[in-house]
Amino acid sequence: VRTILLVAEQREGKVREITFEMLAKAKELAEEIDAQISVVLLGYDVDNLTKELSIVGVDEILLFEDEKLKIYNCDGYQIVLSELVKEKKPILTMIGHTSLGVDFSPGLATKLNLPLVTDCTDLRFSNDKLTATRQMHSDKASVEIIFPHSTQYIVTVRPTAFSPLKEPSSNSVKIVRVSSCLKDKHLRSEVIEIVKPFDEDVDITKANIIVAVGRAFKTEEDLVVAKNLCEAVGGVLAASRPITDKGWLSEARQVGLTGKIVKPKLYIALGISGQTQHVAGMKNSKMIVAINKDPTAPIFSVADYGIVANLFDVVPILDEQIKSAQE
Ligand SMILES: Cc1cc2nc3c(=O)[nH]c(=O)nc-3n(C[C@H](O)[C@H](O)[C@H](O)COP(=O)(O)OP(=O)(O)OC[C@H]3O[C@@H](n4cnc5c(N)ncnc54)[C@H](O)[C@@H]3O)c2cc1C
Repeated sequence: VRTILLVAEQREGKVREITFEMLAKAKELAEEIDAQISVVLLGYDVDNLTKELSIVGVDEILLFEDEKLKIYNCDGYQIVLSELVKEKKPILTMIGHTSLGVDFSPGLATKLNLPLVTDCTDLRFSNDKLTATRQMHSDKASVEIIFPHSTQYIVTVRPTAFSPLKEPSSNSVKIVRVSSCLKDKHLRSEVIEIVKPFDEDVDITKANIIVAVGRAFKTEEDLVVAKNLCEAVGGVLAASRPITDKGWLSEARQVGLTGKIVKPKLYIALGISGQTQHVAGMKNSKMIVAINKDPTAPIFSVADYGIVANLFDVVPILDEQIKSAQE
């Protein structure tokens, strides 16, 4: 029987959203190619998460617990996962394209001598051959990649590419404890300290409403206009890269290719031109409203609603209107 091996991602004892997004795609693929889904969970004292991972379509959860993996360790992940892939021979191994996945997946693929496609936005099979879709050249081009001579594949999946699947399984999912093969000598690196990002309290990837500011804001004081709108709509403030580069907002609030990928219900872009590196991080938002004084700004091609105007004239009016509507 074919297997899709899905590497669950947990951090500090919490399952990350990417896991459920990958599960949605895994279920679809498993039905297509008649495969079973094995979810692998690595960490220490994480067995309480198996319940949350017992999602419809999941056949088994491989639970690997070792104190050495209490904190993420690249060598540890690579060793444990390569053993599992050798044993299970999954047709497809799915890993999140997150800072963790980006760190350990290339080494894992090398250890196993298997092809790796990173940052996939879509996956499909035909005749048991994988076609993986990914973006190239800062998201300017979309390419489909095939490996005609391979029978096993490893992919990392772009966050927000798929809608998360969280429906609990009605059957009880088999939990298999994997015994530890890790020795201290395997771990060539050690985490000495975890430095949390400044502004850790904001996780823009979880916000329902985002008000994002761009280079149209010439001084830090100007941001008050956006902050007022943000307050009126109950949103979270985010920015394009020039603003975070200036240090006016923390990097945790940067949207785009080198920032966060977000998918809020409403994304309001204020004075952002819409360069591909920015759009890559927000184009999947449910509704996009753009305010820009340049009618040819590329942001308008992804926006659902556009206002061509000086934002410093329009935003205060919007603010007033929203506040009076709320009253
Ligand atoms: C490798 C690489 C990675 C990158 N990663 C990212 C990333 O993750 N995120 C990101 O955002 N960028 C990223 N960039 C930078 C990106 O290429 C753009 O430079 C950046 O997104 C532009 O930001 P902006 O739209 O705020 O500024 P600009 O492109 O300067 O646009 C400002 C816009 O504001 C409008 N405007 C000016 N004044 C007003 C006004 N008063 N009212 C209304 N509109 C006004 C202008 O018409 C213009 O369209 C990256 C670049 C590279 C090379």
